[in-house]
Amino acid sequence: MKFFPSRRARTAFQRRLLDWFRAHRRDLPWRASHDPYRVWVAEIMLQQTRIAAVLPYYGRFLKIFPTVESLARAPQEKVLKFWSGLGYYSRARNLHRAAREVVARHDGKFPRSLEEALALPGIGRYTAAAVLSIAYDAPLAVLDGNVARVLARLGAIRGDLRAPARWRGLGTLAQTLLATQAPGDWNQALMELGETVCTPQNPRCAACPVSRACRSRSLGLADRIPAPRRKPAPVKIRIAAAILRDPRGRTILLRDPGAHDHVLFSRMWQFPAVEVARHAAGELAAHLRELFALRCAPLSLEPLPAVRHGVTFRSITLLPFLARVERLPAAPRSRAVALHRLGRLPVSSATRKIAAAAIVAGARHVSPFDSAPPRPPQPPNPAVLGS
Ligand code: SF4
Repeated sequence: MKFFPSRRARTAFQRRLLDWFRAHRRDLPWRASHDPYRVWVAEIMLQQTRIAAVLPYYGRFLKIFPTVESLARAPQEKVLKFWSGLGYYSRARNLHRAAREVVARHDGKFPRSLEEALALPGIGRYTAAAVLSIAYDAPLAVLDGNVARVLARLGAIRGDLRAPARWRGLGTLAQTLLATQAPGDWNQALMELGETVCTPQNPRCAACPVSRACRSRSLGLADRIPAPRRKPAPVKIRIAAAILRDPRGRTILLRDPGAHDHVLFSRMWQFPAVEVARHAAGELAAHLRELFALRCAPLSLEPLPAVRHGVTFRSITLLPFLARVERLPAAPRSRAVALHRLGRLPVSSATRKIAAAAIVAGARHVSPFDSAPPRPPQPPNPAVLGS
C-alpha cells in the first residue's frame, strides 16, 4: 500500500508524531535510561501486562537485580520470588536463562544483532525490535496488537489483523513508516499513541496528532476498525486446594508436584490442589490420600469462601478447604511455612488468593490448636502475603 503521495508528506507525518511524543510522553521509569538491560526487563514485564500492574514490580526488581550479571548470578527461586504476583512466570524463567546467556556468550551486553537477540530465550520479534531500537537506535519497527490497531486505522485496513497475510502486510507498513533517524522514539510514539489516544474503544481523534493522515477518520470508520474479534467462550475450571494447618499456624506447600496439579500454580510453591468435577471435598480428600498417603476420612475439610481467578481464556473458581492437623504430613519437595509468611517464597497469585482466604477464616475461628484468642475478621490482603 502506498501510504503517502511523497517523501515530503511522509517526513511531515513522522515529524508530527515525534513532536507530539516528545511533548506528551508519559514519565515511565523505563524511559529514564536507554540501558539495554533496563529496557529489556521492562519489555518482558510489559508482555500481556498493563503498565499500572508493572510499575510496582519494575523498580523493586531492578533494585534487587541492578545488572544483568546480578540477575545471572541469582538462583531461580530468588528471581521468581521478585516476579511473584506479576504472572506468566515463564517470562521470568526465560529472562533469567537469557541473562545467563548474555553474560556467558555476550560479555554481559545485550547483543546488537537481531539474529543474536532472537536466539535468546523469551525474545521474539517484537521484543527484539523494541530493545534494539530503544537501546541501540537499530532501524527495526515494532508490531504488536497495539501498533497494528493504529496502523490499521491510519490505512483503513479492514478484516482480521491477525490473519497471517494481513499481519505480514502490517509489518511491512510499520517498517516503511519507521522514522530511521529516531527509531526508538518512533516505536515508542506509535505505542504511546495506541495506549493513550488511538485506544481500542472510543479513539480520541480530535486529540490525535496525525488525524489529517488518517484514512479511517476521513472515511468515518475509526470506531469500526479493527473489527472486534470473536473471543472463544472462557473454559470453566474448578480447583480445590487444601490448606493443612498445624497447631503452630504452619501449612505445607509443594513445589511442582507433578501431573496432578494445575499449571495455574506456574511450577512454584503451591498448596496441594486438584481440578475437580463434582464433589470438591471428596475429590480433594482422595488427592490428599494419594499425595501424602493420608487417611482422610477423619480429616475434616472445612470449605472456605470460593475465590474467582481469571487467566486469559479460563475462568477459574478456586475452592479452598481448611484442614486442621496435629502434624503436617511429609512429602517430597514440600516445606512447612507459616501462612502469613508465605509471600517470602515464590508463589503465584492464585496461591496468594487461597492463603488470603485461609487467613480470614483463621481470624474467624478458634482452633483447638490455637493458644492465642481469635483476632477480629480481616479483609483478604494479598499484600501482607508479599512481605
Ligand atoms: S485519527 Fe483517530 S483513528 Fe486515526 S490514528 Fe488518530 S486516533 Fe486513531
